[in-house]
Amino acid sequence: MEITKFEDLQINENIKKAVAEMGFEEPSPIQAKSIPVILEGRDVIGQAQTGTGKTAAFSIPILEMVDSSDKSLQAIVLCPTRELAIQVSQEIRKLAKYMHGIKALPIYGGQPIERQIKALKGGVQIIIGTPGRTIDHIKRRTLKTENVKMVVLDEADEMLDMGFREDIETILENVPDERQTTFFSATMPKAILELTKKYQNNPEHIKVVRKELTVENIKQYYIETRSSNKIEVLSRLIDVYNPKLSVVFCNTKKGADELVGELQGRGYFADALHGDLKQVQRDIVMDKFRNGTIDILVATDVAARGIDVDDVECVFNFDLPQDEEYYVHRIGRTGRAGREGISFSFVYGRDIRKMKDIERYTKSKLIKHPIPTVGDVEEKKVGAFFSEVKRVVEEGKLSKQIQWIENFCEEEETEYSVIDIAAALLKLAMGEEEKEEIIEEKPKKSRKRGKTDETGAREGMVRLFINVGRKQRVQAKDILGAISGEAGISGKTIGTIDVYDKFTFVEVPKKKAKLVIEKMKNKKIKGNKLNIERANKKNKK
Ligand code: ADP
Ligand code: MG
Repeated sequence: MEITKFEDLQINENIKKAVAEMGFEEPSPIQAKSIPVILEGRDVIGQAQTGTGKTAAFSIPILEMVDSSDKSLQAIVLCPTRELAIQVSQEIRKLAKYMHGIKALPIYGGQPIERQIKALKGGVQIIIGTPGRTIDHIKRRTLKTENVKMVVLDEADEMLDMGFREDIETILENVPDERQTTFFSATMPKAILELTKKYQNNPEHIKVVRKELTVENIKQYYIETRSSNKIEVLSRLIDVYNPKLSVVFCNTKKGADELVGELQGRGYFADALHGDLKQVQRDIVMDKFRNGTIDILVATDVAARGIDVDDVECVFNFDLPQDEEYYVHRIGRTGRAGREGISFSFVYGRDIRKMKDIERYTKSKLIKHPIPTVGDVEEKKVGAFFSEVKRVVEEGKLSKQIQWIENFCEEEETEYSVIDIAAALLKLAMGEEEKEEIIEEKPKKSRKRGKTDETGAREGMVRLFINVGRKQRVQAKDILGAISGEAGISGKTIGTIDVYDKFTFVEVPKKKAKLVIEKMKNKKIKGNKLNIERANKKNKK
């Protein structure tokens, strides 16, 4: 039977409960394929890309197999690094949250061995160790391997690359022969296959292969934004692109529900589609989406499987998916039936690496998209409003209104121009929200800007101070346009532009600084006369 749900797995209800709490809706392909085989007692070689859930693929069977009333060591997981050992042990502890009497401990070099010995004395059934330290404990007899029933080599390819082969063999020779052995790895080089021949018993090689999928007619963008800004960024993109229908993907049900709440609160017609809903409820949501009662569907991967709607114009990866294949599935909801589609993926910090994997997998490139500014959104809204105005003007039948305006102009003592009145009406009709621009600080890692001078300018650049900013409705693109236009230098050579409330800093090449200052002096941006000078430490922000 092909496994598609955690429900279908023959595992402890308490594990299922923990899995649900961790937000896993369904087993990933490597989990679905390897868990049942390991549970049968067979040795397994599990091969799947990074980030596909291999940890739970071996951890769930470990928890299923461990006897909690027996305090002796029953399972060993070997990991290449201390970080991984800690990470795996955390995942095991989460999975074991509702099980009683199970202890898992990471052991690795660099931590005082006495402390580990003390912890081991308390009775630990599962250790997650780096090879060297595990051998230390075996030699000291602080780890007794007589009752070990399962050995897992996680990231086996990494471990071999790091020269742990001998250590691994020593460990495998020091555990009972009738144990079960599983190898998990992203790649399976020859060296691993040699090891498996020697130490595994008729293993089943489970390989999750990827389908070739095309995403050619989909424009794929990414946007760098931190979590706290995602909802605002999403709203702006929806306002600017105004897609007829869009699907927003979240990685968890909880995330999807929360996002729907937020979007509804902002006046969007959105609803959620996820695994917690009964089939009837899903059908209702899908009907609403098809007939346009809602135009934003917030979905998780499982639920989205059935989405087969032709005019989805945008897909948003509110969370970047765990798996490259999911990515293709997700964005494939748009660009259907020969149409053009657009996808936006929100990324931040660590996601960038995952994104590179996705690019490699899809053999396509995600293009960086800026966060729409308040100005972009306004422009779009005003544009839409004016096309309505145009329609009404062209329809005619305005004589009554014209009469009122004329009366108003004449009766008032101060004379208003018609344009003042039109502006006031526009403001009344559209309202005016004061919205802050989103300033994305770069995550620490990518903040490396090389050497900077005391004003914060990079090498070869100088920072200039300009006396206009957001209060004057000036945006970075205005500054960029003005400088490249007036001084005749390419926009590409202009560095960072930081727009603050009342002033702006811009980086220009050192060689061009004088020219820029000369050309820009006394020019105007948005009606404001410019004062431009070299920034000094004092006005560094
Ligand atoms: P791998 O070892 O294959 O690189 P991990 O086991 O570290 O991948 O899993 C990557 C991420 O995916 C982790 O954050 C994990 O919690 C999450 N994850 C694992 N299984 C699932 C699942 N079935 N559904 C959703 N997320 C999952
Ligand atoms: Mg892993």
